[in-house]
Amino acid sequence: MAYFAVIGLGRFGTTTSRELMHLGNEVLGIDTDPRAIEPLADRLTHTVIADATDERALKELNLQSCDGIVVAIGEDLRASLLCTLNLINMGITSVWVKAGDSSHHAILSKLGVKNIVHPEEEMGIRVAQSLNYPMVNSYIGLGHYTFLVDVHFTGAVTNKTLASITKRAKDEVRVVLIKRDSHIEYSPAPDFVLEYGDHMVLVGTREALTKLSPVLK
Ligand code: ADP
Repeated sequence: MAYFAVIGLGRFGTTTSRELMHLGNEVLGIDTDPRAIEPLADRLTHTVIADATDERALKELNLQSCDGIVVAIGEDLRASLLCTLNLINMGITSVWVKAGDSSHHAILSKLGVKNIVHPEEEMGIRVAQSLNYPMVNSYIGLGHYTFLVDVHFTGAVTNKTLASITKRAKDEVRVVLIKRDSHIEYSPAPDFVLEYGDHMVLVGTREALTKLSPVLK
């Protein structure tokens, strides 16, 4: 079990803190506004009304013992930056900061923050990707335009072999596994026959994966 702090309990901070609890961690929620704290008082391990721009107030919260801190103050640029600066001055390095826009991102980057998140943009990209590639259930970007993709088969591929599905991108994609109900077939053979409802996890560049999209529907 790990211990996290979430500063700013708006929509993003609330969702993050609740999910961290759901995953079995301890969470300290911090906000200046009692109305933001109130709905979470019974759901998080601790909640505190405090102003994160005030370094002395933050120092009293023993944040050094946290495994990670999320700064989820999106709208108020000044408050987000001062809070982040305070955490850096306290020697805390494991910090995730929500950025509202590109100038916010640029300043955070200059401050040396490694984990800058853009929830709206990232979700927008995901929604667009799901609309564009409806068969892609979920994916992880691995950098350099390489993706790990979970494809859920619901139609035309049924009773076709894996080789016939992947031949368009032959050596450029690697099928990691096929999941059928609770059974997992690791590194499936080329003659593996696909069925309705199978999940296929594959890895490749965006370009190579796109070659497969006509046959994956
Ligand atoms: P979202 O878009 O995720 O709802 P908001 O920016 O609207 O994010 O909400 C941020 C939260 O951060 C609000 O609940 C606000 O009260 C809180 N907040 C703003 N400034 C501070 C601060 N200095 N210290 C702690 N919490 C703050």
